[in-house]
Amino acid sequence: MIIAIDGPSGAGKSTVARSVAQELGFACLDTGAMYRAIAWQARENGVALDDGEALGEIARTFPIEFRHFEGDPHPRQVLIGGTDVTDAIRTFEIDKAVSPVSAEPLVREALVEQQRRIGRAGNYVVEGRDIGTVVFPDAEVKVFLTASDEVRAERRVRQNAERGVGSTDYDEVLADLRRRDDYDSSRAASPLRPAEDAVMLDSTELSREEVIAEICALAREKGASATDGGASGEAASQQKA
Ligand code: C5P
Repeated sequence: MIIAIDGPSGAGKSTVARSVAQELGFACLDTGAMYRAIAWQARENGVALDDGEALGEIARTFPIEFRHFEGDPHPRQVLIGGTDVTDAIRTFEIDKAVSPVSAEPLVREALVEQQRRIGRAGNYVVEGRDIGTVVFPDAEVKVFLTASDEVRAERRVRQNAERGVGSTDYDEVLADLRRRDDYDSSRAASPLRPAEDAVMLDSTELSREEVIAEICALAREKGASATDGGASGEAASQQKA
């Protein structure tokens, strides 16, 4: 089973996806981290962010892996070409670079193929922008998670402060979220938009626990149970795109 969670930056997708996965015994896949890793590698290789061919080449040739840090049930460690970029992909520079990189069709083509291969391996919660519309249009559960711009910016500032990486300047973060939303929504390739059959959840109004409970209930209606197996943390730790 695939549970697709889409929505704009800072809506709480990652936290919610991880909790839903844990509750249902699913693995989870953060597709935003994959686009961020490509943006990081492009900067590392000195590739211009508008050089579609070169960006596509990076996406096709540099393997992205997710691994578990010791004792962590979630595969939070991100590697590209064998380099650990877990923190490096959360900087403000990558926040700015990732939208043009992800708007490049050749990059999307390469990453979507990898995402499908990973997701088909078992029961997955997959979070991103185009999961319910493009990557898994047949996903059993589709959720579009939103929140007001201000709440999203507040949360992102808190998250960055906790991680010790990324901007903690509220105005800067708010401006970046809005800029990325505009960019992601108006691009030609797989723009950010809810699937027609997505359930809309606004986390401005709902607590995180309510959002998690709602998504788990939707999944259970479709037959998910905590004993589904097939995509345990073990499977996630071996994800190799
Ligand atoms: O989710 P996160 O904020 O880490 O995503 C970073 C960027 O990656 C987004 O702003 C968007 O440009 C891109 N993205 C995408 N499609 C996805 C996931 C992320 O275009 N499925």
